[in-house]
Amino acid sequence: MASTAVLSAAEYEKRLQEYAYERSEEGRRVRVGEKEVSEQAAIVARYRDLFTRDQLDALREEQSSSSDDERERLYRLCKTCESGVISTELAEQEDAFENAILQARVTFRGDEMPLRSAQARLAVLDSYADREELGELERTASAAFNPRRRELLEAREQLDADVSGEPDPIARNEEEKAISLRELERALVAASQATTEAYERLRERWFDRLLGPEREPRPTNAHVHYLRRVSPLESTYTKDQAVEICLATTLALGFDMTAIANIHLDLEDRPQKNPRACVIASNPPEVVHLITRAQGGLSDYQAFLHEAGHALHYAGVDPQLPYTFRSISRDHALTEIYSYIFEAVTREPGWHAQYFGLSDAQAAENAEVTLFLEALLYRRYTAKLQYELGFWSAFADERGTSARDYAPLLSEATGLNYDERNYLSDMDAGFYSADYLRAWIRAAQLRAYLVREVGDDWWRSTRTGELLRDLFREGTRPTSEEVAARIGYEPLDTAPLVADLSAA
Ligand SMILES: [Zn+2]
Repeated sequence: MASTAVLSAAEYEKRLQEYAYERSEEGRRVRVGEKEVSEQAAIVARYRDLFTRDQLDALREEQSSSSDDERERLYRLCKTCESGVISTELAEQEDAFENAILQARVTFRGDEMPLRSAQARLAVLDSYADREELGELERTASAAFNPRRRELLEAREQLDADVSGEPDPIARNEEEKAISLRELERALVAASQATTEAYERLRERWFDRLLGPEREPRPTNAHVHYLRRVSPLESTYTKDQAVEICLATTLALGFDMTAIANIHLDLEDRPQKNPRACVIASNPPEVVHLITRAQGGLSDYQAFLHEAGHALHYAGVDPQLPYTFRSISRDHALTEIYSYIFEAVTREPGWHAQYFGLSDAQAAENAEVTLFLEALLYRRYTAKLQYELGFWSAFADERGTSARDYAPLLSEATGLNYDERNYLSDMDAGFYSADYLRAWIRAAQLRAYLVREVGDDWWRSTRTGELLRDLFREGTRPTSEEVAARIGYEPLDTAPLVADLSAA
């Protein structure tokens, strides 16, 4: 049998870049409604040679004999190849599962809707009792897929262990992220505990205001989407002004997003367009797409600014860097620092006063709700990481059959009642929770650094833009922990985060 020749690392990197570009552009066209049928499978088939075990062996061999300088680049190419091999082998099973979920329906008040739409619907139902009812239906329908979720998780874990050669899932993730997940957990839990009182004050005030007097002392997590939408503030944070104000906000930081040729803004309202804001960096820094579709409400502004942070990071990458360091990172902890720092502008009372013509008192109150949501999410993710570490350390024995302490940990941390049946659906692969949490610590450090270097007006100063540009130029090469060193912090120093979360 003829085997395809394997590529050298340099050839591999070049072909990977072409592959990633085609996949990204195809995904974008479907997402924004330019194209109705996704043809990713054809692209994957054309580049099948990139993700074979032979190719992986060849890259590993080249890595083992490479100089220190090259080793990191080759490591990332190996990891990309590994995950491609795993995805290829699981593709059929994952597609079948995805299609089954797409076909699932729930019936609410005689109205049949796709399971996926039920979640979106929960965000816009104004009656507390309706949300409770639909939430229960949604969780029950979703839980019916748990046996298949568990099977898929087990299959992926077995492949991961096999392809990487590391049987322990925690050790494997720690190696790739180059951190200790347990040390991270300890720092995060301590920060969460140190801010519990502040959180409880915020929670009682905003649960009452957003959920109304009929709420239970501990509402179910069905209300999370509704809380995040902050409906009472919708008339202030209108859909029509969203783009203009967000562009003015980034301009004040020294980034004229309408004049950066590499950033393609797609802000149009098309019926087929997915409403969730996103960035697709098809070929950084040359081709970066920022896509949003305003729906109305403060969350539009937060989502736009979050994605602007990603877009400016990718478009600001030094074009001289090899493709790997322009596009591939070890994890998501790096780029989320920059999305978080842009989103953090919406927690500044001055921003609400300046752009929405509010009194200082009103601006402070509106900024407070963004802090409440931030604290809620931070606590939820910290509890998720605690639960996931237990889940994966017991995986060899339990094979994912037990919900363990999922519900008590998340409920206690947030003050919302989590259903233990969500223990599999509420988990992203590869400890994504840890990446977000590292970005939380780092973005708080970065904000403190900017306040020190630039002043309290950091959120509307072009000096901030200059400092960020230097970080963006480094591309995807540094780890989140290396960024801590650049701004003068220890990686696990949560003092700025604790200060932010206790501010109310
Ligand atoms: Zn993000």
